[in-house]
Amino acid sequence: MKIVRIYMDNNLRNYCHLIICEQTNETIVLDPLDVTKCLKAAERLGCKITKIINTHEHFDHIDGNPGVVAATGAKIHAHVNAIKSIPNVDIGLSAGDIVEVGTTVRLRILDTPGHTLAHICLLSEIGKPVLFCGDTLFNASAGNCSHGGDVHKMYHTFVKQLAVLPDDTAIYPGHDYIVNNLNFSLSLEPSNSFAKELLKIVSEQTPEQRTVTTMSVEKKMNPFFRLDNDEIIDTLKDKYANQQIDNEAVFVSLRALRDNW
Ligand SMILES: [Zn+2]
Repeated sequence: MKIVRIYMDNNLRNYCHLIICEQTNETIVLDPLDVTKCLKAAERLGCKITKIINTHEHFDHIDGNPGVVAATGAKIHAHVNAIKSIPNVDIGLSAGDIVEVGTTVRLRILDTPGHTLAHICLLSEIGKPVLFCGDTLFNASAGNCSHGGDVHKMYHTFVKQLAVLPDDTAIYPGHDYIVNNLNFSLSLEPSNSFAKELLKIVSEQTPEQRTVTTMSVEKKMNPFFRLDNDEIIDTLKDKYANQQIDNEAVFVSLRALRDNW
């Protein structure tokens, strides 16, 4: 499996991904937005696009569908509950389903509500673990829940489905937000030297060059995986005086803070 991350260079800083079987050149386009950029990259690499997958129904993850279908005839795959909100879905996906292309790409569907209620993540089943996480998990943060989502469902997705993934799982989110998010992390946990060092490194990169993190890196600097951290809890207690804070309340408070940060 070869992964090509394409920066859309828009205000929302979207990434689209080509997920390629190097043996057959069959390719999945994940969350196409700028059709020209996606097709040019595919053509340059000799890809044969056969499938589109949308992680969720927001416009910036589906707007390239018609253009890619017109050019390639690819079939659209999305969460079974997103069929009513994404036009012309061919195949509805549920937890545990497998999407394959060629001989080297085999992706397992995780049903990951939170950012929206019909959001999937994809976990590779061949080779090193790779997670394509759309707007559920961002580098150093979690997706917002204010456009059809639910922060309590997001908490359970993080705890039960993401935190349990192997440490070496590579993380491919749907947007380039790492610089801003690490600044948010450090506003809560100023003594986190790992986050400081990583911020230095990524600040000097272009979005195309951006470091691909792993689950173990996320657990060192992403506050949404650091719900027991004393410094983060103390910062939240200052803002939410006298509140009894359990892990879920920490998660909910972090998301509320991030909304207004
Ligand atoms: Zn979204």
